[in-house]
Amino acid sequence: MAAEGVRGTALTWVDNAGLTRVKGVPTARLPDAARWGVGMSPVFDVYLVDDSMTSSRHVGGPDGDLRLFPDLDRLTPLAAQPGWAWAPVDRYDQSGAPHPVCQRLFARRMSERAAQRGFGLRMGFETEWAVTRADAPGADAEAVPGLARPGAGPAYGMARVVELSDYLSDVLDALHTEGVEVLQLHPEYAPGQFEVSVAPADPVGAADLAVLVRETVRAVSARHGLTALFGPVIEAGAVGNGGHLHLSLWQHDRNLCRGGDGPYGMTATAEAFLAGVLRELPALLAIGAPSPASYLRLEPSRWAGAFQCWGLENREAALRFVTGAPDAPGAANAEVKCFDAAANPYLVVGAVIAAGLAGLDAGLSLPDPVAGDPALTGAAPRLPTSLGEALRAYEGSAVLREALGDPLFESVAAVRRAEIELFDGASPEAIAAATRGRY
Ligand code: GLU
Ligand code: MG
Repeated sequence: MAAEGVRGTALTWVDNAGLTRVKGVPTARLPDAARWGVGMSPVFDVYLVDDSMTSSRHVGGPDGDLRLFPDLDRLTPLAAQPGWAWAPVDRYDQSGAPHPVCQRLFARRMSERAAQRGFGLRMGFETEWAVTRADAPGADAEAVPGLARPGAGPAYGMARVVELSDYLSDVLDALHTEGVEVLQLHPEYAPGQFEVSVAPADPVGAADLAVLVRETVRAVSARHGLTALFGPVIEAGAVGNGGHLHLSLWQHDRNLCRGGDGPYGMTATAEAFLAGVLRELPALLAIGAPSPASYLRLEPSRWAGAFQCWGLENREAALRFVTGAPDAPGAANAEVKCFDAAANPYLVVGAVIAAGLAGLDAGLSLPDPVAGDPALTGAAPRLPTSLGEALRAYEGSAVLREALGDPLFESVAAVRRAEIELFDGASPEAIAAATRGRY
């Protein structure tokens, strides 16, 4: 790495508020960091989106230290940050025991739990973001994003790709150089909004990729004088940024989402797994839609999946089943649409696996699929409409408490409670402005 001009490695993890935190080490120290870990306070597990902190029964206060161990299998030179590489970390305590609040180790535990039962999962996050240009003439990008929105051409419009052609090709180039397999890049609905989707990976790998893709997009944006906003809501009252999760359940080389007797060809096993996810969605929202801002996004008729139902290719259903092309066995999958980009992707993959496995244990089956927009047909119940409501469901979820374990479960709840308080009485505009540029 030194010979290739890499001077430092960014060692990242994602906290319970959904922010990626970092310790950097110079290249010469990376071997030591891999062997002994790098010190870091555990208090970040109770940090909020504004960098204030709360506390919980197991985490909080100035005492203690953790060791961050980089996963060198994921070590990646960063294409848009010359001189830098990146690696995600697992966190252990000083005695070498796994830190019970480490979100990445939680994701791995759940992945292993599925593997012990003979199942593999393929997962992939979609990354949505919107760009602003801080130096647009006369525009205060923070206060009035609409004024400073380059790429304001039509939704899904080629005009937007033409306007930001060099920028978008640099996004593709950087991701390609980093070995990330991009499936699609396209303009999204809101002004200046784009989306990248990447090939599926194992659950921990998918969460790692979500971090790498986001930081790469952020870095390429900065090189083009743009600020990338990943917050759930860019502008109050408008379409926001989703963080949809695609997943398929596998046994050996067989995708259980197809070739079965269940609805649209899924197997009974995949059906029970998805039914477990569907059942747990109100509680899962405290993980996947973790900010008060998330509920400004999670509105009907914005393709955000605000209803607790599933449907074939239904973009208003929180759980969208995708059969894919008949000759592409890997393609059948389900998409959880109600999650957004404020979520910690490691918590998301772990919690979704836990919910799915609980569905298998209970032998659940799916209710009838829903077609059309439930906002117009009344065919399905709304998911929680506030973080407070999602938090109540989460606190009542025996499945999630058992899976996360008390220290992680409670520190997540503490951060949610504190962010509810932080934004208590704030206007939607103020919540949007305080969060859209933080993630
Ligand atoms: N931006 C939408 C959201 O908030 C999603 C649009 C789409 O279906 O890709 O989730
Ligand atoms: Mg999208």
